[in-house]
Amino acid sequence: MYKKFTCQLCGVNKTGLSYLVDKKNYCYSCYEKVISQKQAQEEKSQELYNLIKDIFKIDIIPQFTIDSISQEIKKGKTWNGIKETINYYYNVKYYEVKENDLLYISTIINRYYEETYQYLKKQKEVQKANESVDLTPVKRTVNVRKSSLVKKQKDFNYKIEDL
Ligand SMILES: [Zn+2]
Repeated sequence: MYKKFTCQLCGVNKTGLSYLVDKKNYCYSCYEKVISQKQAQEEKSQELYNLIKDIFKIDIIPQFTIDSISQEIKKGKTWNGIKETINYYYNVKYYEVKENDLLYISTIINRYYEETYQYLKKQKEVQKANESVDLTPVKRTVNVRKSSLVKKQKDFNYKIEDL
């Protein structure tokens, strides 16, 4: 039987078939959007979980780790942001992998989320700078590269000391 419902995404009142996702009613076009968003989130969360499994050499992630990550997502962090943060902490900063870290994963995420963002931003800038340098004539390239490299390294050292 057709029924009256309000789509939880576009807010339109409809009479007809409603589509249920997580106990919420949607019209058909919003249902398709919600499903594809859900799939994208699912893929991103899997990428994060796979990274954690690789780093800690485990097959199953403890429930409390999954719960703390979910909490961070609810607070507005993104799956990708958390994945990059974990990657930064262990594969860029080379912090020791301790089993206990799984208990305190949200502490690591919260402490390094912003720093990871800044790091990635800087990486992109360096990449862009290198790309634009490569376009200049060979003779000049050498000079520009040297000075910009030295400068960048200095900036980076400063940042570490500030911590
Ligand atoms: Zn709708």
